[in-house]
Amino acid sequence: MKFIVNRNEYICRRIFCIGRNYVEHIEELGNDRPASPVIFSKPPTSLVPAGKTVRFPRCGETPHFEIELVVLIGKDGIPASTEEAVSFVGALAVGYDLTLRETQNRLLSKALPWDICKGFDDSAPIGNFSAFSGTADDLAALQFSGSINGTLRQQGNTAKMIFPIPELIMEISKYWELKSGDLIYTGTPPGVGSLSAGDTLSATDHIGNTFSWQLEKQL
Ligand code: ZN
Repeated sequence: MKFIVNRNEYICRRIFCIGRNYVEHIEELGNDRPASPVIFSKPPTSLVPAGKTVRFPRCGETPHFEIELVVLIGKDGIPASTEEAVSFVGALAVGYDLTLRETQNRLLSKALPWDICKGFDDSAPIGNFSAFSGTADDLAALQFSGSINGTLRQQGNTAKMIFPIPELIMEISKYWELKSGDLIYTGTPPGVGSLSAGDTLSATDHIGNTFSWQLEKQL
């Protein structure tokens, strides 16, 4: 999927995601606070641009919503420090990490990988990007929110992250050399819940732009 940011074209080839990055969300799901960032991934084919329909999962399980701030990596390389990691943030957006929670709990109980509960088709609705050229302090003061059928359900602020965005970038780059166009879903604040077929999902980003998607009615 291509993104246009400041007239530059980005092609997304990888989506990294962070789990359990907000204390209140860890508590609502009864999970343990991680000693280091929990990293998983989705395929780029899971992305859904704003205004499009999110297909209902063909497995028949209703997805849960998780609103998240999303980082677009703007250049190739391996940052040497958290200070340098800030310069790898090319743009920001807001998106949903849709999750098959029942399947996830089943996989968790057997210590199996999360691919099917997190990386299924259309599991990553994403709003438009806005270019970023700020500081680490700017990255730690980003507000965003998610509404379902017009009702506010989740409000997040990156100030409440356990691992701030530059630390997430450092952790990911221990394993993968960063590539321009990589996305990082940075974890969800509290308030997650189940969707219903036909629901309208809306997401408001850090500069007040709102984007919407509709979950397909189950056949
Ligand atoms: Zn998530």
